[in-house]
Amino acid sequence: MNNHYRYIVLGNGNAGFIAAKSIRETDPEGSILIISEEAELTYSRPMLTKTPLRTYDHRKTILYPESWYREARIDVLLNTAVERLDTDSKTVRCGGQEFRYDKCIYALGASNFIPPIKGSDRKEVTSIRTFDDIYSLKRMSVDAENAVVIGGGVIGLETAAELTKYGIQVVVLEALPVLMPRLLDEDTANTLQNTIQSFEIYTNVAVQEIAGDGRVERVVLADGREFPADFVVVSTGVRANTGIAAEAGIECGRAVIIDEFARTSAPDVYACGDCCEYNGANYALWSQATEQGIAAGKNAAGDRVSMGVIDSSMTLNTDEISIFATGDTGKNPELVYETEITDNMHPEHYGVNPKYLQSYEKRFYVDGKLVGATIIGNLTRAQGLKEEILGINREGVSK
Ligand SMILES: Cc1cc2nc3c(=O)[nH]c(=O)nc-3n(C[C@H](O)[C@H](O)[C@H](O)COP(=O)(O)OP(=O)(O)OC[C@H]3O[C@@H](n4cnc5c(N)ncnc54)[C@H](O)[C@@H]3O)c2cc1C
Repeated sequence: MNNHYRYIVLGNGNAGFIAAKSIRETDPEGSILIISEEAELTYSRPMLTKTPLRTYDHRKTILYPESWYREARIDVLLNTAVERLDTDSKTVRCGGQEFRYDKCIYALGASNFIPPIKGSDRKEVTSIRTFDDIYSLKRMSVDAENAVVIGGGVIGLETAAELTKYGIQVVVLEALPVLMPRLLDEDTANTLQNTIQSFEIYTNVAVQEIAGDGRVERVVLADGREFPADFVVVSTGVRANTGIAAEAGIECGRAVIIDEFARTSAPDVYACGDCCEYNGANYALWSQATEQGIAAGKNAAGDRVSMGVIDSSMTLNTDEISIFATGDTGKNPELVYETEITDNMHPEHYGVNPKYLQSYEKRFYVDGKLVGATIIGNLTRAQGLKEEILGINREGVSK
């Protein structure tokens, strides 16, 4: 392995991977090194909770095999944590080695946020971000009878649904008054909560302690209620991994600050994905990693490409319900929204699964413009709605 690369990509999540791929598409010759502390080649993180926990081989979520990297002449250093980035000497230190770069892509992603609840440092408290987290969750689930999931967002709900398939009694605890609070309006969130029967859901609760004698036995709320738990999954959002960038003197807010070309404040250092914010926004979504990864990679390789529109859509798919949300679903208190509701039948799906027979669609308008939508049930129309809204947003951006 060289110690000088034309391009060094820090992190091999979707953002780092797309950046490396985009570099190669633009510069067929320049040497590329990706460094990651994970043991696996890039995989689809969303698929960790969108596939059956009990029966799925999660290695299938790896995006490209080793041979693809060989053919693309991209070196990959796995199991190696980046310790330091020096933007003056243009070096990266990791695992006792030092590499020099001409251009660096900072794509160190985000880490799960674990709220400072008493007992949250116990061994049986976990969260889901990596392959290792999934393997440990599978092991804990085999003999468990009760589990508590803290956080009623998409990942928490998907996890809860999968845990019930082990025969586990699952309780979801959400601090806010509704489920999926970032994405859903109150009506849609209530429909979601009322439809789910396979696990219990409590909203508007404050978790006080994860307690037990030796090992985790229960979760205690501030109002005194208790829920038995052999283990606890915490799903309460993420925090951008800014530490190494901040130490290198790169400008950071809540995340690494980038411009529309994915440039950071340091010369020849680009950034992309969950670790970044652009115009104060960090969606921490797959499409952000993709769009910013393309811009970071192509611009590092000498192109001039501004970031594409970030698609903030989310889908929740369980045996009991499917929900899709896209755009602004009435979340800005300063705007006045008009809504339109349609109830569509999809008789072609009769007999497949009753949840696909009907779709309940809610559209959100501001000044006559479609800005967001939710669908419950049959999601056939989701892609079309998403494109309609993104099209409108693109017009907005180009003005
Ligand atoms: C369970 C789950 C479900 C999700 N579902 C959805 C969904 O339905 N839709 C959606 O849009 N998004 C979803 N997301 C979010 C989406 O997966 C992320 O937005 C996306 O993967 C971010 O990619 P990234 O490359 O920016 O960051 P990451 O994927 O976090 O990659 C960063 C990489 O850098 C590595 N790293 C960090 N620090 C160091 C270091 N010091 N040295 C070396 N390597 C380091 C990390 O180990 C990691 O491999 C989900 C995420 C999870 C965890």
